[in-house]
Amino acid sequence: MANETVYDLIVIGGGPGGYVGAIRAGQLGKKVACVEKHKLGGVCLNYGCIPTKALLKVAEFYSDMQHKAGDWGIATGDHSYDWERVIGRSRGIAKQMNGGISFLLKKNKIDHVVGTARILNANIKGKPCRVEVTDDAGDKQTLVGHQILITTGAQARELPGLPFDGKKVLNAKDAMTTLDQAKELVIVGSGAIGMEFAYIYHAFGTKVTLIEMMDHLLPIEDHDVSRAIEKEYRGHGIDFKLKSKTLKIETTGDGVAVHVAPLSDESAVEVIRADKVLVAIGVTGRYAGLFSDAVGIKTDRGAIVVDKKTYETDAKGIYAAGDVIGPPWLAHVASEEAINAVETMFGHAIHAIDYEAIPGCTYCVPQVASMGRTEQSLKEAGLKKDVDYRVGMFPFQASGKAQAGGHAEGFVKILSCVKYGEILGVHMVGDHVTELLAEMGLAKRLEATVDEIISTMHAHPTLSEAVHEAALGTQGRAIHF
Ligand SMILES: Cc1cc2nc3c(=O)[nH]c(=O)nc-3n(C[C@H](O)[C@H](O)[C@H](O)COP(=O)(O)OP(=O)(O)OC[C@H]3O[C@@H](n4cnc5c(N)ncnc54)[C@H](O)[C@@H]3O)c2cc1C
Repeated sequence: MANETVYDLIVIGGGPGGYVGAIRAGQLGKKVACVEKHKLGGVCLNYGCIPTKALLKVAEFYSDMQHKAGDWGIATGDHSYDWERVIGRSRGIAKQMNGGISFLLKKNKIDHVVGTARILNANIKGKPCRVEVTDDAGDKQTLVGHQILITTGAQARELPGLPFDGKKVLNAKDAMTTLDQAKELVIVGSGAIGMEFAYIYHAFGTKVTLIEMMDHLLPIEDHDVSRAIEKEYRGHGIDFKLKSKTLKIETTGDGVAVHVAPLSDESAVEVIRADKVLVAIGVTGRYAGLFSDAVGIKTDRGAIVVDKKTYETDAKGIYAAGDVIGPPWLAHVASEEAINAVETMFGHAIHAIDYEAIPGCTYCVPQVASMGRTEQSLKEAGLKKDVDYRVGMFPFQASGKAQAGGHAEGFVKILSCVKYGEILGVHMVGDHVTELLAEMGLAKRLEATVDEIISTMHAHPTLSEAVHEAALGTQGRAIHF
């Protein structure tokens, strides 16, 4: 025991929560171990954010070649695709990014421990925490540390009685790695993941049907955004059913039979047959087997309970951040929470996360980017348009840059408060809007008003002029619309 390494921090999980938290602790001069059972980079780099964007890029390019190139004056002749290479490129990018994280851990002198972690005890009566790590061969070692940061992420939820099988009943990881492209695919759930895969598969010729229980696609977005996306998806030829419940899914000899009924009449069952079904109905925290009740960590509805400022759990010296503590399940949120947890535990002042102003993006085509309040939430809170809040809308149809770029769908919508001009919400649909959102994030952080957006010069021609015009629009002063 005399030579045992006692870490300042043991991070469990090497995703965007874990590796970022570990690096921050390394920067603070702390002795850190990062335990990862699978691949550094977590879901985000390996089976989430990055590989899907690689697929989306190719899907959009292929779709443009088919549907737009002629209008743009390009004669492409026959074109085809090779699914295996499309998937292969995406896997290659994930692998390359994953190697980069390994380098960053080394650079910050963090011990990367390979294996599955289990917490033996919290920091009790001055005794440090202990974590048992079991590697693939079954060999065990015990790590000792003053603090633990749990960043074990979340896993896809299954429909009751319908486990993922990787062949006919898919989760997102299966859908992005399978070399067997479905000819017909049903997607249950029209959140960001369902919408992105609907576009990818449809672009490569799969007949896609989306099933959504709520009354809109992307149901948590502002309804103007949902309506615009519904119009675009209809235009692409992607079939979707709203206010519809998936009652039962059967696997058959050659595929699946999805039983769907309208919420208004569950007896009006329609059976949709397809090769595969992608279940994208959300995620649940990944902590089974990570600790026993005796450790003292509380959980609630599939998430570890933490103080949302310090990220400490009910067990002393044990913190948690990222997907494992519940929504919003986003990589940038995981990273920020982990940084705040680390800075708090080592006595640094933090900027608390404003959970009302989290930027959220869906990389469907056209893209969706939003932050803050939706118009329906303002109405539900009893606020009245033009009395309490104003709306500024600018369509990309009126943007020279969007027209020149060949993708003029969508708009920028800004909701501002009448009294002070405070930015309440921003909702965008269109090409590259996920890049435009950062300006509004900074504006919100600096508590800028719409007047300050208006008095900020925006270069011409850029898509960002649409943000400027939408801000002008809140005061009825838009120039080009
Ligand atoms: C298809 C898809 C697309 C997505 N696209 C986006 C996007 O565009 N933008 C965005 O912001 N978010 C996106 N997300 C969500 C994003 O991937 C997650 O929010 C993010 O990865 C959460 O980071 P995390 O560190 O909390 O957990 P994870 O990334 O899940 O990392 C957790 C890590 O912990 C490891 N682990 C678990 N248990 C143990 C254990 N006991 N011992 C050791 N290691 C363990 C796991 O192997 C894993 O590597 C997407 C998700 C999916 C599925």
